[in-house]
Amino acid sequence: MACPICQSTKSSLAGSKHGHKLYRCADCSLLYVSPAPVDGELIHYYQDYHKTSQYIRKIKSKQRRAKKRIWSLQRLTLGKKFIDVGCNEGYAVAAARSLGLEACGIDVNEASIGLAHQQYPMGDFRATNAQALATTDERFDIIYCSDVIEQLSDPHSFIAALYTLLNKGGVLFLTTPDIGHFSVQKNLLDWTAVRPPEHLLYFSKAPLQQLLEMHQFNQISFRPNLKPTLKLIARK
Ligand SMILES: [Zn+2]
Repeated sequence: MACPICQSTKSSLAGSKHGHKLYRCADCSLLYVSPAPVDGELIHYYQDYHKTSQYIRKIKSKQRRAKKRIWSLQRLTLGKKFIDVGCNEGYAVAAARSLGLEACGIDVNEASIGLAHQQYPMGDFRATNAQALATTDERFDIIYCSDVIEQLSDPHSFIAALYTLLNKGGVLFLTTPDIGHFSVQKNLLDWTAVRPPEHLLYFSKAPLQQLLEMHQFNQISFRPNLKPTLKLIARK
């Protein structure tokens, strides 16, 4: 199968995990699951993931972290329209509202949207995806997208949709696990972030930058991080 980012067919088997094979692209260095699982398997996985107690415990620290991140993004644009793409239970949307932004969140997981409505009754949450929203005329000044892209089988249509959704002068903030980080270089496949079929795409800086450039984003930069998470900022 061709690389999902650069379409190169030069790849080598990096190993297997949870019964799925992982290939490394020789051209852009993306690590990816191939063949990609069928949709039914993924939907089953999405529905179970957010019920885990481990996930619930992490929500408080996620809230605090989201507020700090959004506060710093606010200084990069004058606009007030904020969207969290892949909003889970809505904590980043609540954080954005508390900072005075006009905020909404979307998620393909209907159970997450239900929980978000329960937790934050004043919030604007919708069970949809970026590609569908991009066909409407809604546009945003800040797009927040944390730990979503690694789960997708079609990253190009997703990033194209984010570009469409962003206003000129707006800012995109995107995070994903960083397989190029010094702390995970040894025994990469044992790293907990490498978990097919939930995660299908594994980025380092180069393939993520390449993907964003292919869709006309500019001023692409990465925030330094001692932890193995890429924090990308890009502009339109
Ligand atoms: Zn590639």
